[in-house]
Amino acid sequence: MASSLRILPRTTSRILTRHLAPSTTQCLRSQRRHATNLQAPDAADPKLRQIDVSALKIQQTSTPKDITPNDQLVFGRAFTDHMMSLEWTATDGWLPPRITPYQNLSLDPATCVLHYAFEAFEGMKAYKDAQGTVRLFRPDKNMARMNKSAARIALPTFDGAAFIDLIKRFCRLEERFIPSTKGYSLYIRPNIIGTQRTLGVGPPGSALLYTIASPVGPYYPTGFKAISLEATTYAVRAWPGGVGASKLGANYAPCIVPQMQAAGRGFHQNLWLFEDLDPETGKKEDFVTEVGTMNLFACVQGKDGVKELVTAPLDGTILEGVVRDSILELARERLVPEGWKVSERRFHMRELAEAASEGRLLEVFGSGTAAVVAPVRSIGYQGSLVGCGLPEGSEVGEITKRMKDWIEGIQYGEEDHPWSVKV
Ligand SMILES: *Cc1c(COP(=O)(O)O)cnc(C)c1O
Repeated sequence: MASSLRILPRTTSRILTRHLAPSTTQCLRSQRRHATNLQAPDAADPKLRQIDVSALKIQQTSTPKDITPNDQLVFGRAFTDHMMSLEWTATDGWLPPRITPYQNLSLDPATCVLHYAFEAFEGMKAYKDAQGTVRLFRPDKNMARMNKSAARIALPTFDGAAFIDLIKRFCRLEERFIPSTKGYSLYIRPNIIGTQRTLGVGPPGSALLYTIASPVGPYYPTGFKAISLEATTYAVRAWPGGVGASKLGANYAPCIVPQMQAAGRGFHQNLWLFEDLDPETGKKEDFVTEVGTMNLFACVQGKDGVKELVTAPLDGTILEGVVRDSILELARERLVPEGWKVSERRFHMRELAEAASEGRLLEVFGSGTAAVVAPVRSIGYQGSLVGCGLPEGSEVGEITKRMKDWIEGIQYGEEDHPWSVKV
């Protein structure tokens, strides 16, 4: 791999001119000022985005791996036989795609990704339906998000439709690794890194977009298990104008210590908050953002009796989840006719705690590609526990369960739906 990585010096002078760091008080007061699609000036040059799918070269492995039995699958531990790689240079754009045996990368110690975290990734899955057809779930969403993430850190963008074609080719080649039992799938991890060899801080003149895949089992192999969250009040994951809304590797390492601290106090995950002024009261509140690597939903019955499915808005404090978007769309289509209100709005811990104490907090759940949904039993906040509406002995609420069934029904082709894309 090393010798084939073409590292070019920067050939174009690209200067990031925008200021990214307004003071915290500015952040709090006005979100409007923050560009949501900030990118390097030439990141979207059409010529540099093109991928020639027809130029794909496949080098098959001569040592095929054994298939791991379903009951021994561990998330992200075992990988398929091959990987798919595309190199990019600022002068030539995307070079011909290659599928090769899965292998180590070899990078010069001065490569920019290793120093300044020029890295963005995606997480998506391939599912096998009852007829044995392989399917992707809303892959266009992952492509759009990856392009947004890459552009934000001056990495090159790419033609998403062409890359989906390549992912399909890759899935077909690795088909024997995709388990055929419902709940199982092939986790696909596209990763883009800056490969320029320099300690100078600037836009990388070369990049590598590679994809690996790992067969995975259901998040809850023995049925739902509701989790407990600790609301983190001493650290912040994301803020308006920051990069927490992009799937950048740099966002994940800083989350581990708060996660470990929550675990040390007996919680499964930590819940990220964002302290801000409540425009209605002028008081500071801890707004709920998301949990670990999942978005968060709450089902709250209003004082007027109306049931509301609520999640945080896309204001820079959360990652724009594909499952989050799917839940919102399905809820608008299928729950609103049942009298539900569906809201993307800020909500804070005091609101949740008050609803809980009045018996109006019906359900809380996380959402993401790994688990689809994860029911939440309780949230530890400022020394007390907020109960999230699950009766004792029950591990999942009705809406949480229905959402999982709807989404999995689409992913596994049981419900015919445009979101499910045949490979
Ligand atoms: C990936 C991710 C999610 C979930 O996104 P999906 O597209 O629904 O899988 C949520 N939060 C964070 C921080 C993430 O990295």
